[in-house]
Amino acid sequence: MSKSLQAIRGMNDILPEQTPLWRYFEGTVARLLDNYGYKQIRMPIVEFTELFKRSIGEVTDIVEKEMYTFEDRNGDSLTLRPEGTAACVRAVLEHGLTGGGQPQKLWYIGPMFRHERPQKGRYRQFHQIGLEVFNLDGPDIDAELIVLTWRLWGQLGIRDAVKLELNSLGTSESRGRYRVALVEYLSAHLDKLDEDSQRRLKTNPLRVLDTKNADTQAVLVNAPKMADYLDDESRTHFEGLKARLDAAGIPYVINPKLVRGLDYYSKTVFEWVTDKLGAQGTVCAGGRYDGLVEQMGGKPTTGVGFAMGIERLILLLETLGQVPEEIYRQVDVYLCAFGEAAELAALALSEKVRDQLPNLRLQINAGAGSFKSQFKKADKSGALYALILGEDELAQQVIGFKPLRGQGEQQNIAFDALAAHLATCVVQG
Ligand code: ATP
Ligand code: MG
Repeated sequence: MSKSLQAIRGMNDILPEQTPLWRYFEGTVARLLDNYGYKQIRMPIVEFTELFKRSIGEVTDIVEKEMYTFEDRNGDSLTLRPEGTAACVRAVLEHGLTGGGQPQKLWYIGPMFRHERPQKGRYRQFHQIGLEVFNLDGPDIDAELIVLTWRLWGQLGIRDAVKLELNSLGTSESRGRYRVALVEYLSAHLDKLDEDSQRRLKTNPLRVLDTKNADTQAVLVNAPKMADYLDDESRTHFEGLKARLDAAGIPYVINPKLVRGLDYYSKTVFEWVTDKLGAQGTVCAGGRYDGLVEQMGGKPTTGVGFAMGIERLILLLETLGQVPEEIYRQVDVYLCAFGEAAELAALALSEKVRDQLPNLRLQINAGAGSFKSQFKKADKSGALYALILGEDELAQQVIGFKPLRGQGEQQNIAFDALAAHLATCVVQG
């Protein structure tokens, strides 16, 4: 195939053999979020570039090097969204959803775009499910976000493989004081810092804390600690969160170096990490961003949220073998018909049955074929039962019913009794 007909590197097709697992995952999350009282919001995939610069921060990896930005035909600078929070805040403000201090508990799902180096668990188009909560400023809601993800890991069977890391970045005031102290300390050791950290010291000094460079890490051992700079408000908030996680029995570790890649976080930050996926170990990450809405031109409005990476969680389910077998069976009943007259009757009969059993997964054989070939297809479809309609059955107004897996003899069922019979043997989803 010529190069122009290939997908873009790092942007993947999700093939029919994979979609059952995606739908299982997405369905599980959607049901859980419904149950906790979150409402779905859907934003466009493209926004004005300015939105991301103003919210994510000009000197972050995302804005500096990872955005898909282009000029449209009007000459506007547009960007494929690299994350969901910015657009969600924009939508909330534009439609007045948080007017008068009204709380909102929202979620979204969809593709995000970042020009990174593609590798396992890291793609240029990837998918997130994100939650954002506005106008609820207590540690109770931070705890709820974590508790519900913990429940999700339980439902998916991956609890043992993920670990919660937690930190507090403090209010913007305490963070500001800490930043000054950190810059002062690191400036005194400038020659021992790697090049990237030297640059970050000027642009985004907190990011030096999560450096992978061993020499810089050695310098950081004696650096001022964020925890010592938290003001009372941040400290009380953090203690409140930890008390709730303890009460709910959710294990966590405090990671003082957890700062997150985006500029807008304050107070709580957290990541769910796994050691089962190599370098791409963070499956869900988020935190509080109390200053963001104001920074984007809204009234003071607190916010807290997270996003999980669907590809990484799917990889984790596969790696751990936590994929329920039954999600791949998509046919309950496969109908074989032989000859034109039987085909016509089969279509009419199956539509009647669908009227009565709206959740029945009934596949009609297409393309005719011999008894042997249709039966082979019935078996290959994964169906539990085959229905068989030939000239003889048609003459008697009955249809053959044959269990395909396990015991049970073939029997004839009257047309009129078919729906009732199927209702007794097929679990209705
Ligand atoms: P990382 O440190 O792995 O680059 P991040 O801090 O940039 O992650 P966030 O912006 O917090 O990631 O996004 C939340 C989640 O989305 C991540 O924890 C991860 O699961 C997923 N994610 C982020 N970038 C990618 C990507 N390029 N490909 C696949 N999943 C991603
Ligand atoms: Mg990243």
